[in-house]
Amino acid sequence: MDPVRLALTMGLVRAFGLDGAVDVVAAKPAGESTLRLVHREDYVAAVRAASADPKRADQRYGLGTVDDPAFAGMHEVSALIAGQSVAAAEAVWRGDTSHAVNFTGGLHHAMPGGAAGFCIYNDPALAIARMLELGAERVAYIDVDVHHGDGVQAAFWEDPRVLTVSLHEHPRTLFPQTGWPEETGSGAGAGSAVNVALPAGTGDAGWLRAFHAVVPELLADFRPQVLVSQHGADTHFEDPLAHLAVSLDAQRAVMSACHDLAHEYVEGGRWVALGGGGYAVVDVVPRSWTHLVGIAAHAPVDPESVIPPSWRDEVYARTRQLGPARMTDGRTPSWKSWEEGYDPADRLDQAVLATRRAAFPLRGLLT
Ligand SMILES: [Zn+2]
Ligand SMILES: [Zn+2]
Repeated sequence: MDPVRLALTMGLVRAFGLDGAVDVVAAKPAGESTLRLVHREDYVAAVRAASADPKRADQRYGLGTVDDPAFAGMHEVSALIAGQSVAAAEAVWRGDTSHAVNFTGGLHHAMPGGAAGFCIYNDPALAIARMLELGAERVAYIDVDVHHGDGVQAAFWEDPRVLTVSLHEHPRTLFPQTGWPEETGSGAGAGSAVNVALPAGTGDAGWLRAFHAVVPELLADFRPQVLVSQHGADTHFEDPLAHLAVSLDAQRAVMSACHDLAHEYVEGGRWVALGGGGYAVVDVVPRSWTHLVGIAAHAPVDPESVIPPSWRDEVYARTRQLGPARMTDGRTPSWKSWEEGYDPADRLDQAVLATRRAAFPLRGLLT
């Protein structure tokens, strides 16, 4: 979570002139009443205490742990990130803009009562909760980070107004060991959680096949009033923390598909796009999220584009590493659609079928 990944992303956005194609807005940090839409009072108090004095971090709340070390100002910076996602959601909900991006957000592991997986406050859940507070009745959340979007799922587990869909590496081989297809929500929210647990090693064709075999049908049926998507870049084959083998080009294809789906199934094309994980901080994250900004700005960056040398100089100055030269991994993503049939012996197809069998009937959809 080295913050240099965010600085380099903003640098690359600027290098392509995309900051001139969007309004760059600095919103206020999320305040107490907003944080309380998702988080417990005692947890927020524990974060504040650790923030004021890291030696007081309470491990019962996941603070001061290996994954979530305590540091001075941790409440303030986490609330600032959350505030940007909440403001993005408010702007899109009000119709001030049809799309908004916060690539510093997407911190999907934070739980109502605890920190987890590098996440303190759950900005996607807060953005969604704020729109519910403003009157939203149907919000779809699509999470394509390599890790399960467990915190967002937990926040809306019993809430039929929020459909959470997560595609991730199988819980058997990756943190947080949840996101099984059988996790489908409960109570009034039965069928409101959908999980696709992808086999380790899944590459572009399988990842895109799974996305298209699950997401469009759900959105066509649910007809959300707003789409929130989380674009963790850690699905990439170079990412050091996980085991999928997705290229930048496939990540871009899914971003573009989310944008298209927003226009197809959401009134006014309302779309809030967030960042997430991503630990190849020089080679992958800046390029991935620059594509996201370009797509949301209706000024997509051509994958063949040569990266401006000024940005590569910035990379070297900050990291002593050589930055990538082009906005592509040189792949041309393609996939076979689910309608063309499936192979019962194929592990990817087994994963997709498990998801459809577990979740689709609860939503009145055919397996
Ligand atoms: Zn658009
Ligand atoms: Zn992740």
